[in-house]
Amino acid sequence: MDTTSFTKKTIGGVTHVEPALTPPPMEHTTPPFPVKPKQISTKTRVKKRDIPEGLWTKCPTCGTMIYDKELDENLKVCPKCQHHFPIGSRERIHSLVETCTFEEMDAEMSSVDVLKFAGYKGKLERDRKSTMLSDAVLTGVGKIGAHRLALGVMDFGFMGGSMGSVVGEKLTRLIERATEGGWPVVIISTSGGARMQEGMFSLMQMAKTSAALAYHAQARLPYISVLTNNSYGGVMASYAALGDLILAEPAAMIGFAGPRVIKDTTHAELPPGFQTAEFLLEHGLIDATVPRKEMKEQLMRYLDYLAAGRSN
Ligand SMILES: [Zn+2]
Repeated sequence: MDTTSFTKKTIGGVTHVEPALTPPPMEHTTPPFPVKPKQISTKTRVKKRDIPEGLWTKCPTCGTMIYDKELDENLKVCPKCQHHFPIGSRERIHSLVETCTFEEMDAEMSSVDVLKFAGYKGKLERDRKSTMLSDAVLTGVGKIGAHRLALGVMDFGFMGGSMGSVVGEKLTRLIERATEGGWPVVIISTSGGARMQEGMFSLMQMAKTSAALAYHAQARLPYISVLTNNSYGGVMASYAALGDLILAEPAAMIGFAGPRVIKDTTHAELPPGFQTAEFLLEHGLIDATVPRKEMKEQLMRYLDYLAAGRSN
């Protein structure tokens, strides 16, 4: 068609139609530099552009690459297989309490290196900076639905959620305030256990928190313990196991000592999955497994039951 041509040449009476886009001569297609290095640099550029660092997370259970924004919006739960990733204490509180109802307690309380344990000060400093927390638990009073309650949320990002003097003291003050106020207590645990850098001072927190919960129970006030991955050691051997109701997130690992330590000590064959939330639900330690996205709704329901018939 004439629309695809722009010149006409006549050679020996034959009309020749020249195409609008003339292909370049063959000799010009050969690049003036070696091909291989160019290909490598192009590939690197494309890779970096497609998967920017820090924007994607690989699910350890199903292997799916999840866009971080999507993971945050889904409360750090894999949308494909429901794997529960660790979640920070502030994000968790935000997902549970009614907007602007949470009043933090003892925000400035922080650990001291009383035993002069090698490297402890540096680790405290590092985790204070990386988590913006003063220690491994965040406590305060807030509202879930219509219920005012005392809420303690542990953070695994701060020295593996280990329980030292500050964790024990903050939780004890929280429980005592709940007893005075006539409020239920909810503690969401994640911990590797007592903090070895504080030795006996850590272990004393087990008795202190348990005693505070005994006074709270004497006042006939409910306490709900929520176990998340991982809940181990001195935390499981004290307040985390003392709930009137004990809930757990799906697939959370829960126990006192790790499976390898138990196996080496007892020389017994352990049943498969014996420290998972599902196994412990079947064997009676846990009352229910609750997915993270249903936690607020379920807590409201349980608090309705537990508060039923109370005047305040
Ligand atoms: Zn997954």
